[in-house]
Amino acid sequence: MEKIKMTTPLVEMDGDEMTRIIWQEIKDELILPFVDLKTEYYDLGLKMRNDTDDKITWDSAYATKKYGVAVKCATITPNAQRVEEYNLKEMWKSPNGTIRAVLDGTVFRAPIIIPSVKPAVKTWEKPITIARHAYGDVYKATEFRLEGEGKAELVFTDKDGNEKRETIYDFECPGVLQGQYNKDTSIKSFARSCFNYALATRQDLWFSTKDTISKKYDQTFKFIFQEIYDNEYKEKFEELGITYFYTLIDDAVARVIRSKGGFVWALKNYDGDVMSDMVSTAFGSLAMMTSVLVSPDGNYEYEAAHGTVTRHYYRYLKGEKTSTNPMATIFAWSGALRKRGELDGLTDLVDYADKLESACLDTLNAGIMTKDLIPLVDSGVEAKAVLTSEFIAEIKSRLAEKLS
Ligand code: NAP
Ligand code: MG
Repeated sequence: MEKIKMTTPLVEMDGDEMTRIIWQEIKDELILPFVDLKTEYYDLGLKMRNDTDDKITWDSAYATKKYGVAVKCATITPNAQRVEEYNLKEMWKSPNGTIRAVLDGTVFRAPIIIPSVKPAVKTWEKPITIARHAYGDVYKATEFRLEGEGKAELVFTDKDGNEKRETIYDFECPGVLQGQYNKDTSIKSFARSCFNYALATRQDLWFSTKDTISKKYDQTFKFIFQEIYDNEYKEKFEELGITYFYTLIDDAVARVIRSKGGFVWALKNYDGDVMSDMVSTAFGSLAMMTSVLVSPDGNYEYEAAHGTVTRHYYRYLKGEKTSTNPMATIFAWSGALRKRGELDGLTDLVDYADKLESACLDTLNAGIMTKDLIPLVDSGVEAKAVLTSEFIAEIKSRLAEKLS
């Protein structure tokens, strides 16, 4: 069989621990035999980040801006223990944070669902995609712990030196204080990323904030979304028969639980952080959660939502064979290859990505799965736990058949 051709390289960001091992297996077994793979390779493994003073991470992010599509393996975000374990020069920043800072995007997380794993919420029939604003708010806040009486004020000095000042609270006892910000430019790009994603996946878009309480901060988000929708997206949405729907966050939470799924739910940074864990757990497993960072100027970075699965890696190092779920990492590759195919007009590559995903789903639907999914499947379904390598071999044989 002739291998499927690519024209533009994918930006490949390798990573750490168990996911790094699986990364290589996926390439060797599921991609390289079928695709004439072109990548520009960046090793974001912790050792290389340390050796290059993290320059490699920045380079990989700029390469994503250049080529438009990247696929990323999970990476260690170092903490004190990792600094010791890897003898690091510094406690390097989270690679995802660096990549987001360069691409300025929105993170979309969607579960991979199969009929034998029922969501905890009975009414959900289709995936719910969380779109999380990945900039500002409490993640960039300044905060104080106050040990006694005193007046807290909010002060803004404009570039001409004019002050705007308001009392926050006259403290009569110890307490806490926090200052948050966001920027119109970032909120606008968040909005456009969400509208574009909804169009590309032909799903309704929901957006929710607490604008009734936060009449300046959250209302700004609401107004910016509405303005961009009316001016730039309304017609396109109507053409596709999809809707944009804004509602208060408490109302949204209640509606999400009663819904059938099948929409994109856009959320501010903190809300998205919390709700994505709730939604992924309710759909089954973090190992089945895909993630893509979409920038406003149309760059895409695909990855699994989970981490490097450290505990499995330590067992692997002892010579044990593991049953680690490769689904989300495989879907990162298929997502990136499909997007590359779409951008370059390579129908064979798009078709390959579709078949790779359907080979994965067929394998799961045949009851062949990794250990983590066994407790989640319906009691009536006959399921067998296999090792990662066996699972990948089963996918490979189904994929080969589909492609022949
Ligand atoms: P994790 O790697 O997601 O793993 C947490 C636990 O979830 C695992 O121990 C495992 O449970 C289960 N799990 C996750 N993915 C699985 C899979 N594919 N197959 C089977 N089970 C899976 O999170 P963590 O242990 O908190 O973090 C490990 C490292 O990953 C950290 O250094 C962190 O910085 C990094 N991290 C990176 C990213 C990223 O690059 N995007 C995201 C999160 C974390 P059992 O052990 O019970 O089987
Ligand atoms: Mg979180």
